[in-house]
Amino acid sequence: MNILVINAGSSSLKYQLLDPENGVLLAKGLCERIGIDGKFTYKAEGKNTLDAVDVAMPTHSEAIQAVLNALTDKENGVVSSMAEIGAVGHRVVHGGEKFASSVVITGEVMAAIEECNPLAPLHNPANIIGIRACQSLMPTTPMVAVFDTAFHQTMPPAAYMYALPYAYYENDKVRRYGFHGTSHKYVAGRAAAMLGRPIEELKLISCHLGNGSSITAVSGGKSVDTSMGFTPLAGVPMGTRSGDLDAGILQYLMNKYQMGIDEMLNVLNKKSGVEGLSCVSSDFRDLESAAGKGDAKAALAQEKFAYEVRKYVGAYAAAMGGVDAVIFTAGVGENDKAIRSMVCQGLEYMGLKLDAGANDVRGKETVISTADSKVKVLLIPTNEELMIAMDTAALVK
Ligand code: AMP
Repeated sequence: MNILVINAGSSSLKYQLLDPENGVLLAKGLCERIGIDGKFTYKAEGKNTLDAVDVAMPTHSEAIQAVLNALTDKENGVVSSMAEIGAVGHRVVHGGEKFASSVVITGEVMAAIEECNPLAPLHNPANIIGIRACQSLMPTTPMVAVFDTAFHQTMPPAAYMYALPYAYYENDKVRRYGFHGTSHKYVAGRAAAMLGRPIEELKLISCHLGNGSSITAVSGGKSVDTSMGFTPLAGVPMGTRSGDLDAGILQYLMNKYQMGIDEMLNVLNKKSGVEGLSCVSSDFRDLESAAGKGDAKAALAQEKFAYEVRKYVGAYAAAMGGVDAVIFTAGVGENDKAIRSMVCQGLEYMGLKLDAGANDVRGKETVISTADSKVKVLLIPTNEELMIAMDTAALVK
């Protein structure tokens, strides 16, 4: 069964058509500048590519119509009719405490997703608009919602509670939710397959290191702790996000520079992380090249990032009482051998030995630890769209 995967943002929409049974990607692309003018990109093996061509997209409906037209196009399409699209899987950022797994979308589910809007005001409303547009154009096709937060709903209270007055949890839902759940779940499943062991008996630490980064402790296939929190600002430093910091710094800087909370949060979300620290870039490729030319701040940003990731690895090994494998995934985790090597430095005491030769690799499912390393180190390219398609197919069958 072919599954259409939709990731709708406020002015853009990513799509892929996949067959989750064999993992084959039939077509993928992007709608951009929705509500402005509209640019449409479409790629399918052996077909003509459309690259940011003008297509009027006053709303998400025209964007999705353009996707359906391209997929079913006589010459360049990949299916002969809409009937060959078995279901649609929608990425939804926040499922709050209501959704611990993916779910077939009904009227009740839509209402529950809307109730989570205050927890992700920039993302959930756009996800909902995408679902509604699809429902009106494909009224008989089943739709599934796959949440970034759902995988982490198995965390125990000691991991998800903040040491704040309890009423903020009870009345205001303030707790750790965690994000990147679809990616962590996917790579954990692949790790079990690579190790040839049932996931139920494995302790894994999944390092999703990209522009946004999060580390997750996965015990027996379940998330038991994760570094992102109430929002995706928490945890390790990221491209432009600060990660964890002393909340007292906010009061000090806001008073000193007469900043409001919105301005302060803008600094923490958009001007901090490795970009803020290095004064160079949020892109790890730029850091590598600047550090190579002797830029001390760029080298410091790399070291700080790797140091914080390494601390989470140690913390999560302690939280789970051991670890069988550490996984690297996402843009930095899959491509940056220097960062992987820096993260693994000094972890020999826990039985983790990186193989420098095997680590000289990019974007390929590989074991990168030595043969005698007790803790395996795995490079696993993430595939959130395939995970969404797999969940969707399983639910609509
Ligand atoms: P993601 O958010 O997973 O798409 O990751 C994007 C980030 O991955 C970029 O901002 C880069 O910092 C990083 N990245 C991508 N390719 C490379 C590479 N070849 N070497 C180092 N970092 C890379």
